[in-house]
Amino acid sequence: MKHPRPLWPAWKPIALRLKAAPRVAVFSDFDGTLAPIVRHPGQSRLPAPTRAALVRLRRLSGVAVGIVSGRSLRDLRAKVRLRKICYIGSHGLEWTGPEGRRHSKVSAALASHLQELGRKLEAEVGRLPGIYVERKTLSVAVHYRNAAPRVARQARQAAERRAERAAKKLRLLRGKKVVELLPPGRMDKGQAVMALAGRLRRRGGPRPLLIYLGDDTTDETVFPRLRRGDLGIHVGPGAGSRAQYRLASPAEVTRFLVRLREVRA
Ligand SMILES: [Mg+2]
Repeated sequence: MKHPRPLWPAWKPIALRLKAAPRVAVFSDFDGTLAPIVRHPGQSRLPAPTRAALVRLRRLSGVAVGIVSGRSLRDLRAKVRLRKICYIGSHGLEWTGPEGRRHSKVSAALASHLQELGRKLEAEVGRLPGIYVERKTLSVAVHYRNAAPRVARQARQAAERRAERAAKKLRLLRGKKVVELLPPGRMDKGQAVMALAGRLRRRGGPRPLLIYLGDDTTDETVFPRLRRGDLGIHVGPGAGSRAQYRLASPAEVTRFLVRLREVRA
């Protein structure tokens, strides 16, 4: 596996490519990519300079903006509060296009089964020190960032047991300091981003040049799907990522968004 290269030393030829593309779609993960990681996921916020950069990008014709997350669509939209952009929530299980209408393929029965499971898991491990059970619209996430290793293991095992014993088949997803129970199937950020980028085609023309930014293991489902000429950017040290390039931090991502706007304006 090739290690992602630092982006800025390669910026000049990249900028020329971004300038020359008829249309560009920039899709980004939220937590750890646009918004710095904080102790409690409920407290994460989109920094004002990042929001300003996204607003200015969105105003350009020929540029589409999308934000992608494991958060529920409702939670994500409440955090970002930008109109006329695409949102992908719950790791691709629900999304909205620029027109703002919600789409999802998960049945109401399965959603309520997951809600029930969320309540049970919360009762079981939600009060352990440093554990946070996040009950989402279409999934349950057990966060253990702030827990001691022994407690973290206990909470992880409880989630795994629930997944195994659930009346309906579920999927277990592991992320950064979080384990999550989801509806079964293979939907992931990669598929969702590709589907939405495909919808941004005009009159059967080619899809826009696609830029994807992400920091987590779930973002790795996107990078291998990018085409030649697209731009995949891992946020962080880059170890184990299949992205072409890397940026060090969310602050660098904001800088990238500003530069992208300059190139496209
Ligand atoms: Mg992330």
